[in-house]
Order: sequence, then C-alpha cells, then structure tokens
Amino acid sequence: MTTASGLIAAHQPAWSEPDTLREVLHRLSGSPPLVDARDCADLVDELAAVARGEKVVLQAGDCAELFTDSAPDRVRAKAGQLHELGGRLRRTGRAPVVVGRLAGQYAKPRSYQVETGADGVEIPVYLGDAVNDLTATGEARRPDPRRLLAAYDHAARGLRTLAAGPATYTSHEALLLDYERALLRPDQVRGGVFASSAHSVWIGERTRDPGGAHVEFAAGITNPVGVKIGPDAAVADVVALVTRLLGNGTPGRLSLVVRMGVDRVGERLPPVVRALGEDAHRVVWLSDPMHGNTIRSARGLKTRVLGWMADEVERFCAVLRQHGAHPGGLHLEVTPDEVVECVDTDEDLGTGPDPHRYTSACDPRLNPDQAAALVDRFADVLAG
Ligand code: PEP
Ligand code: MN
Repeated sequence: MTTASGLIAAHQPAWSEPDTLREVLHRLSGSPPLVDARDCADLVDELAAVARGEKVVLQAGDCAELFTDSAPDRVRAKAGQLHELGGRLRRTGRAPVVVGRLAGQYAKPRSYQVETGADGVEIPVYLGDAVNDLTATGEARRPDPRRLLAAYDHAARGLRTLAAGPATYTSHEALLLDYERALLRPDQVRGGVFASSAHSVWIGERTRDPGGAHVEFAAGITNPVGVKIGPDAAVADVVALVTRLLGNGTPGRLSLVVRMGVDRVGERLPPVVRALGEDAHRVVWLSDPMHGNTIRSARGLKTRVLGWMADEVERFCAVLRQHGAHPGGLHLEVTPDEVVECVDTDEDLGTGPDPHRYTSACDPRLNPDQAAALVDRFADVLAG
C-alpha cells in the first residue's frame, strides 16, 4: 500500500469493502482518545529515568491478544502477572516501569500470506483479531474492516479494567496505519499530535524501513516509541532510525528493542552501539530474547528454548555495559496461563512443546515459571 505521502506502508491488509473501511475510519476519527496525552508524557519521563539507569522496564504480554482477552478477569490476571514480574526487578535497586503488550496488541505482520487449512485447502493466514478471525476457514480469514471498530472497543474495555489496578502502561505494534492515523489526537500537553491508541507503540522488524510509512508515522507522534532491531539490521539503518525518531534528543522518547538471537547478539550489537555514539546513552535499550530464537519443533509447532533466551539477555547486558550504556529492560511474550509453548532446555526440544497446553494465537509465550526464571536471570545480571 502507498500512503498519501507516497511512502510504502508494508504489511497492510487487503481489506474487503473499501466503503465500509472509509465509514469505520470516519467513526474512529470521531471517537474519544483511548489514552491520555498526560500519561504518555509521564511514560517518556519514566523511560528517561531508564535511559539514565535509574529505572528498569518490564514490557510483556501476548504475541497476539484475542478480543476475548479484554474480559476483566483476563486483564486482571495478565496485569497481575506483569506486576509480579516487575516486582522481581526491585532487588536491582531500580524501580520497575510496567508496560503491557496489552489492550490493543491485535494486529500481526506474518512471514507467509497463506497456510493450509483443515481440509487441505490454502487459506489466508491469521493477521490478528483487528483484521480477521483465528478460525481456520477462508471466510473467517477475510480481512474485515468492521474489526477495527471492535479493536477500539476491546482496547477501551481492557483499559477500563487496568485503570482500577496499579499503574500499567499499554503498548502494541503500530502496524495498521489506517487505524493508528484515525486515532491521532492533538497533544494538549506537549503540542503536536499523539497516538491515542496506547501509551507507547513500536515499529516491528518487518516495517522499520527508515524511508517507509511506519517510521514516518512514528516520527510524527509525541508518544514514546520503540523499534525492533534484528540481526540483519544495517548499522546505517539503525543510525538513520535513531536520527529520525529520537527527535530533539529527548531521552525516553525512543527504545531500541534488540531481538538478534542468542548466537548473533554478541557479534551484531557492538557495531550498532558504537555507531550511535552519544545517542547510545539517550535511547532505552530493551532485550527481546523471544523473536531471534524461534524454531519449529519436530511436530511442527513454533517454540523457543528458555536457556537460549536467558543467554541472549545476558549477552545483551554484557555488550551494553562494555560500551558504558545501560541495559534498560526486557520485552517478552508471556501468559499467566499454565501453557507449555516454550521449552526449558535443549533436551526438551525432543519432546517439544505440549500441543494440549499450547493456546497462543501466534508465537510461543513463556508460562509463569519460565517468565519468572528469565526475569530473575536479568535481575541477577543487573544486581551483580
Ligand atoms: C512481535 O513482537 O510479535 C513481532 C512480530 O516481533 P518482530 O517485529 O521483532 O519480529
Ligand atoms: Mn511475536
């Protein structure tokens, strides 16, 4: 898709019913903001403290939230887990900043456009509840623009539950630019416009082209933004992204979410940190040890090995410290449910994840014990 500014927006759904899409976007444009500009500004300040090494981030949640996850008991369980994990970071002497992949993580970029359905027929892949339905039929997988209205309503419902608990910021990947643009609102606190869909949004590995429409969108908002950085990111691209997105150099405005994989982070991250010079101390460095370590198990299910993820986190911390920068926190895929989607060790790869305890709509998540173990390993490194 090409935008009004002539830039390419990658990974946009081929929506059916363009008239309905227009009507939906019109309604979203007239809807109240989902979050307050004041809270977004507060998050920039908290993240600035992270960049200074005074606070630490726990950003986590589902790979893909389902609309049914906006039910109050589900949101309370998820927020409870996030704060429990955040609390584990207190012994580092730094206060946790808790950010959920929550109340809006409803759209996914995918590596393949089609998959084989139950009856052996090719169907479009699941693109997140904001776009199509997880049910494996061609009809369910048709991108339906009405789902954008449902995404707004479910995010609002989740935020209402979160508001009654301890402070939890929300975040999601800013993938669907039509939706995100319809929710831009004037920022009465700092001027300009902010994305009112979440306190913070990030740009994924697949859409972070420095000259693309997603980066242009992120550059135009006042929210704190993240960018995923994979192992094949060109150093010059990362420098261009930081120049474009750090704005006037405000610490806390930009997080680099490093997801290079256990085997490559030690080699690929150092040249990136060095090339950024002083800006390496203005950005927030987060480790996403999930997305560079995804493999297929013998049975064909996607999985990740906890031990590899813990090692990636440790290597990430070592590289940053060697360069005088602060490891700022973790970006994880977790669930409060007792699933077995990730495995603990290499040896467990033989048995693989448990198909009967595998409920993720997309990538494999850490169960509560696995998530706690990973966060503890990070806390050990920080405290040590
Ligand atoms: C994700 O966070 O679910 C994701 C798709 O990550 P990445 O953009 O890093 O591949
Ligand atoms: Mn994922």
